[in-house]
Amino acid sequence: MTTAYHPGRASADPPAPAAAPRPTAVALPTPTVRVRTAQAPSSPGADPDAPTRPADASSAARSSEDVWDGPLVDSFGRVHRDLRISLTDKCNLRCTYCMPAEGLPWLAKENVLTTDEIERVARVLARLGIVEVRLTGGEPLLRPDIVDVVRRLHAIEGPEGPLDISMTTNAIRLDRVMEDLEAAGLSRLNISLDTVDPERFKMLTRRERFSAVQAGIAAARASGLRPLKINAVAMRGVNDDEFCDLLRFAIDHEAELRFIEQMPLDAGHVWSRHTMVDGAEILAKLSAEFDLEPVGDRGSSPAEVFRVRGTDATVGVIASVTAPFCGACDRVRLTADGQLRNCLFAREESDLLSLLRSGGSDEDVARMIRASIGAKRPGHGIDDPGFLQPDRPMSAIGG
Ligand code: SAM
Repeated sequence: MTTAYHPGRASADPPAPAAAPRPTAVALPTPTVRVRTAQAPSSPGADPDAPTRPADASSAARSSEDVWDGPLVDSFGRVHRDLRISLTDKCNLRCTYCMPAEGLPWLAKENVLTTDEIERVARVLARLGIVEVRLTGGEPLLRPDIVDVVRRLHAIEGPEGPLDISMTTNAIRLDRVMEDLEAAGLSRLNISLDTVDPERFKMLTRRERFSAVQAGIAAARASGLRPLKINAVAMRGVNDDEFCDLLRFAIDHEAELRFIEQMPLDAGHVWSRHTMVDGAEILAKLSAEFDLEPVGDRGSSPAEVFRVRGTDATVGVIASVTAPFCGACDRVRLTADGQLRNCLFAREESDLLSLLRSGGSDEDVARMIRASIGAKRPGHGIDDPGFLQPDRPMSAIGG
């Protein structure tokens, strides 16, 4: 059974006497994926990189005996190895492009996956072939047991050994837990930073936490985790005059900068294809001050990477909108409320939370995962005429 995105009351509201429980799954053991009703089918033609469907690659119709057999492959032959887990939908920043000033209606606490449940789903996914897990949110460091989450996930054996655990964070509070995270098995960090100007940071994030972020970046730099990446979303009229400053900052902090094209995942639904800053413009602006040399084959990496001549640094551009890399997508996402999403832009989800809480077996979980992956579309479809932004904003999906 599947459910729609229905967060609980906003924390600003008085607490509800009894928050509504999620609907209980009743249709075991057959997993279902919510049927898309509002979006025109994605056309592979919209994305030159989109895969085509092999004749007999459907992974959804499997008998219970072979649910553990073979890779987690979709109907276009893409093998899934990368799991994104959102640990919370809450954040300690209010970035104007991501969340309204008052925040969002947060998920009710009882609808958020427990650490036992996260571990169980990750264990099933590892058995199906997942080798790496990226923790995100919301802000993952807001999860009180974050170190334990990392330790428990890293203890899971995947096909290539212990799961590789990385994290995307705004770095606030990182200085307090960096050593423990590293000891728990965290292997890499991506830190989000859209501006290096403290005043602009305050306006953009609606919080005065620039120095806390800097302390987090310093802690990450002092750690043994490499490569350290900094992610910046390129935004017109917001930071498009400081791309070179951001790159200088990253070089000075021994970090690899990745610029990200802004995607239609804003809570306010005001994103516009016509005003977004695209990868070509980012590169043109950087080239005014830096000599960039393309770095070979990008493999399944979403970033096109350039060496910055005269330094040891690289800089990358993740052109998710103008140069989608859906054909190489190997990702599956688990939201904080236990919904499996086969794409950032999916309009359907598979309700693992209800399945787990209604006694579903590991085989049931695996079947639901395979069904979700089997229904994955060839591309995100942003350029399709019928494209509709997902109901969830980025912070509730996990970026
Ligand atoms: N709080 C953590 C952080 O700041 O990294 C993790 C969650 S945040 C949603 C993950 C990343 O998504 C951040 O780098 C953020 O800038 C990015 N992001 C948010 N909205 C976006 C959008 N519409 N397009 C592209 N990236 C976006």
